[in-house]
Amino acid sequence: MTITEETAAQPAPRDGAGDVPLLEVRDLHVEFHTREGVVKAVNGVNYSVAAGETLAVLGESGSGKSVTAQALMGILDMPPGRIPQGEILFRGQDMLKMSAEERRKIRGRKIAMIFQDALSSLNPVLSVGFQLGEMFRVHLGSSRKEAKAKAIELMDRVRIPAAAARVGDYPHQFSGGMRQRIMIAMALALEPDLIIADEPTTALDVTVQAQVMDLLAELQREFQMGLILITHDLGVVADVADKIAVMYAGRIVEQAPVHEIYKRPAHPYTKGLLESIPRLDQKGQELYAIKGLPPNLLRIPGGCAFSPRCPHVQDICRAEVPPLVQVTEQDGTELTGRGSACHFWKETIHG
Ligand code: ADP
Ligand code: MG
Repeated sequence: MTITEETAAQPAPRDGAGDVPLLEVRDLHVEFHTREGVVKAVNGVNYSVAAGETLAVLGESGSGKSVTAQALMGILDMPPGRIPQGEILFRGQDMLKMSAEERRKIRGRKIAMIFQDALSSLNPVLSVGFQLGEMFRVHLGSSRKEAKAKAIELMDRVRIPAAAARVGDYPHQFSGGMRQRIMIAMALALEPDLIIADEPTTALDVTVQAQVMDLLAELQREFQMGLILITHDLGVVADVADKIAVMYAGRIVEQAPVHEIYKRPAHPYTKGLLESIPRLDQKGQELYAIKGLPPNLLRIPGGCAFSPRCPHVQDICRAEVPPLVQVTEQDGTELTGRGSACHFWKETIHG
């Protein structure tokens, strides 16, 4: 990735540490004030992502994954949305405390977002080449000719066949997978430091899903970007993510390096999600699906929000919110990067 004057002139991160994460979310809360009451969508989320790292944010629909991302991107509906508490640190600086102009420099330029639905994100009456080129014309002041050349280069990069011939085509002339590649190209255009991809392959066929995911992972490595990959599907992240944060009712309930979570989950919710992944060797068998529904965020149950659905629920679970604690081996050795917000994480991982 090119080093621009802007990045070179960044003030030293606080503490002067070189290992300040690219992005760090601290104790983020987001609520929506509605006629029915206050929807507590995000309730103290903490996560971080480093350059070149992929964080997968996982959880059922309604767990607050997208709202967290919208807060990062500054695209929350405010009102009714509100951020009563929390920090969003980009290279150590809190975006929530920046001036609007400082924020604008980061969002869009340094952080880009890819959405699930390319068709509604692209303008149907403009050619994809024009829309890609616009990034360069608007942000870099490129001429029309330059912008078109760069658009073709980007389309090549995301492996759209015959890019030069198709640069004038309209969104509807591309397949769903190709349109999602165009969205990736759009996100890459300004060489951001961080990409947030919100269910980027959910609308695609399974085989196309894998191709788009592989492409995203490859480009991320090449550009050494940070990637936040939001998904409800544990199956799609195993090969591309470095670490996973599992969300439930607006909280992180488990976090771990990706391969460890598959081997030894430390939260009953994660365990349930893992058991819900269809497996080729068990075709025809009924899938374990977690019983019940996620809570209504207008009235999150007291104690552990998962307790009404948890097969191992005890009295303490209904009474006390379990904090996210460090997960250890049986002998007390800390497991790097692992945390669980379950009163009975020991029984879950070692039991
Ligand atoms: P997901 O994990 O599926 O991405 P979201 O982050 O989109 O979930 O949503 C979390 C919760 O926030 C949901 O209950 C949703 O209804 C609520 N929510 C999101 N946007 C709004 C809004 N503009 N007004 C009221 N509630 C909202
Ligand atoms: Mg979502």
